[in-house]
Amino acid sequence: MDQKRKAYRDKHREQINAQKRAWNAANKDKISVARRKRESTPEYKAKRAEQRRNYTATEDQKIRWTENSRRSARNRKIKAVELLGGVCTICGLKDDPVVYDFHHRDPAEKDLAISKAKTWAAIEMELPKCVLVCANCHRKVHKV
Ligand SMILES: [Zn+2]
Ligand SMILES: [Zn+2]
Repeated sequence: MDQKRKAYRDKHREQINAQKRAWNAANKDKISVARRKRESTPEYKAKRAEQRRNYTATEDQKIRWTENSRRSARNRKIKAVELLGGVCTICGLKDDPVVYDFHHRDPAEKDLAISKAKTWAAIEMELPKCVLVCANCHRKVHKV
């Protein structure tokens, strides 16, 4: 029976997931109330903390996480480079996004290096203080 059910689930995974998503979308209020109630108990929180402590990712998972985070960092950079015009403000170079740096016009305003930002929201906060420069020009800007 269980085998059969599993086979059915595997075969119709897409359809089942679509149904779940539709139900979830239509019943947002129900979910949040039920979930908040369930997840607000100290027992539940302790259990989750314990699960997190004991969780060991497989090597495959670790590789996937690393790949995913690299990919999103790359995509964030591409988007940020585009937003700042896609050319070096100093020499006008137009090249692959990897050659660009984000130079803070006023070092005193700098809260975070764009390359260290983990979310797009953080980049959006920082980007207005920066100009786009290529790595060559950036070195010359900062030479002592
Ligand atoms: Zn340049
Ligand atoms: Zn700089």
